[in-house]
Amino acid sequence: MNWKDTPKTELHLHLEGAAPPAFIRQLAQEKSVSMDGVFDRNGDYQWADFLAFLATYEAACEVLKSPGDYQRLVAAVLEKSAQTGVVYTEISVCPDFCGGGDLGAWREYFDAMCQAADASPVETRFTVTAVRHFGPEQARITSAVAAQTAGHMLTGFGMGGDENFMNPADFAYAFDQAREAGLGLTSHAGEIAGPQSVIDTLDHLKVSRIGHGVRSIEDPALLARLADQGIVLEVNPGSNVALSVYPDWPSHPINALRDAGVKLSVSTDDPPYFHTDMVAEYDHLHRIHGWGASDFAASNRIAMQAAFCDEPTRTRLLTTFQEP
Ligand SMILES: [Zn+2]
Repeated sequence: MNWKDTPKTELHLHLEGAAPPAFIRQLAQEKSVSMDGVFDRNGDYQWADFLAFLATYEAACEVLKSPGDYQRLVAAVLEKSAQTGVVYTEISVCPDFCGGGDLGAWREYFDAMCQAADASPVETRFTVTAVRHFGPEQARITSAVAAQTAGHMLTGFGMGGDENFMNPADFAYAFDQAREAGLGLTSHAGEIAGPQSVIDTLDHLKVSRIGHGVRSIEDPALLARLADQGIVLEVNPGSNVALSVYPDWPSHPINALRDAGVKLSVSTDDPPYFHTDMVAEYDHLHRIHGWGASDFAASNRIAMQAAFCDEPTRTRLLTTFQEP
């Protein structure tokens, strides 16, 4: 079965982490920036462990310096999304990397990104993501920038980065500020850190979605709470395997989470770094976890119902994911 043409939603995709290697190589060549050590012999991103992954990621981002670069990046990422059957996507962006958190600079970057999104057939929204290990003060600045540019295209606020840095409670102000601006809320938790990180995130940040959240499987009471509250997990199985959260695909708890009544959707996180894309994720879920067309349609409906978009867009796209 080829899942390429199956329509898909993707809720968890980091813009810089989705940059196609060929795009970064091209930009580096244009700017005469050295990319030594970034790519392997096949032209893929090269890294051996988590720290090397971060170093490669940062080195690749060195060539992304202007609104024009980001416009081209969004176009390249959405081209790949369209090729893999994605019809709705939410791209996570960070104003810290687009003008250093300055509102005026961010507006220029964001306008450029929106131009690329408008030109794509993929229905696209953006979520602003604060970097947890930059601390609560920077998160407040980031959420203020998000709040002031909230609108049709910028619809969500979230947090990524080191899950063990401080406590979610320390970031409550940033999330309150984003909520008051009408932004949908999500946060990474339960990926590297255990179930308590998900509990703290739900208690203090009052999100409707969790980025990853897979380690909730270790706490039956938390599973019941997630199911009861209808919290949606943005699950990225290929990413979890690549970063050794689980040793291999068969060990991934996606079916156990679903069997516990937890709502979940499927995304790729930083796909070229993890040698994956949406088609590969669907293929693995089909071959290893037994998912079929109705399972994919169901998870896409869950994603669309949890999407940070306007109601007409939601209603229109939900019809795409009818039971086959
Ligand atoms: Zn992520």
